[in-house]
Amino acid sequence: MSYVGPDFEPAPPRRSALRRPLTVAVAALVPGALAGWLLWQVTGDSEGSAGAGGGTAAPASSSAAAAPAPSGESGEPTAGDGADPTPAEPTPADSAPSAPSSASAPAASGPLKGKVVVVDPGHNPGNFEHATEINRQVDIGTNRKECDTTGTASDAGYREADFTLDVARRLRTALQQQGATVRFTQDDDRPWGPCVDERARIGNDAGADAVVSIHADGSGAGNRGFHVILPGAVRAGGADTRAIVGPSRELGARIAGRFVAVTGSAPANYVGDGTGLVTREDLGGLNLSTVPKVFIECGNMRDSADLVLLSSGAWRQKAAQGISEGIVSFLRT
Ligand code: ZN
Repeated sequence: MSYVGPDFEPAPPRRSALRRPLTVAVAALVPGALAGWLLWQVTGDSEGSAGAGGGTAAPASSSAAAAPAPSGESGEPTAGDGADPTPAEPTPADSAPSAPSSASAPAASGPLKGKVVVVDPGHNPGNFEHATEINRQVDIGTNRKECDTTGTASDAGYREADFTLDVARRLRTALQQQGATVRFTQDDDRPWGPCVDERARIGNDAGADAVVSIHADGSGAGNRGFHVILPGAVRAGGADTRAIVGPSRELGARIAGRFVAVTGSAPANYVGDGTGLVTREDLGGLNLSTVPKVFIECGNMRDSADLVLLSSGAWRQKAAQGISEGIVSFLRT
């Protein structure tokens, strides 16, 4: 995979003249985003609809998805997650029908042709009904931790697990339009989970070029904005992230930069010191990864202003687009 440094792809001579300017332009996005973040901090404004240079990929037919889901897993507790699961509305017992697919056939063409991206929709709508299963402990290398959590929910019963699936499916379409092969860890096609260790394993076994785990936070009211969670350097038991810390940071920075640009949302005002980037060493989904991986907390479901954004299909489309553009930027570098 080519997460950093020169472009390893044998670009056709005809295009080579374009590649350098493109690379420079992409590199310029990160500082630009940082400047934007500083501005956000000053103004305190975080209305979600800037869509600066976001740009939308040309609509293209998504390639037919096909392979059956690989029994992936979804979420992992993050800062606020799990703290207040608020199972507002019980999930219907039959909420996990066999969904279509979790993997996609490679697109015929596109900048991500040949690249594999694993998308991890945090949690699972069925987790609310399977407390025993998701509460069992699994080995995350550095520690033992619950298999999975329910994720948070709004007071009105909008569940994080439904949010993550929706954003993940939009993201899949966007990435497929860029030519990527996309695999899910779960697509509401299993009753619960998978556990966080299995979620990591799915990305590893796929030989993913990039993995992103989608979440929304469950922090206190007034805490707003998004943040990307990066793996810290850990080495214990089955966990050894030293090789992925660097590329994961690059992946996370690019996703954060494009997320700001496309959604207009600000970096979290309660973690990350305004950078939108947080490093953690306690998440099994990151600790057990051997491929570049980050989490993104798209906003705080327990804050009414953020919830307005998270509840909007149009905003979720922007969120997916921003994440997709960040991944494209990372994989093309
Ligand atoms: Zn979560």
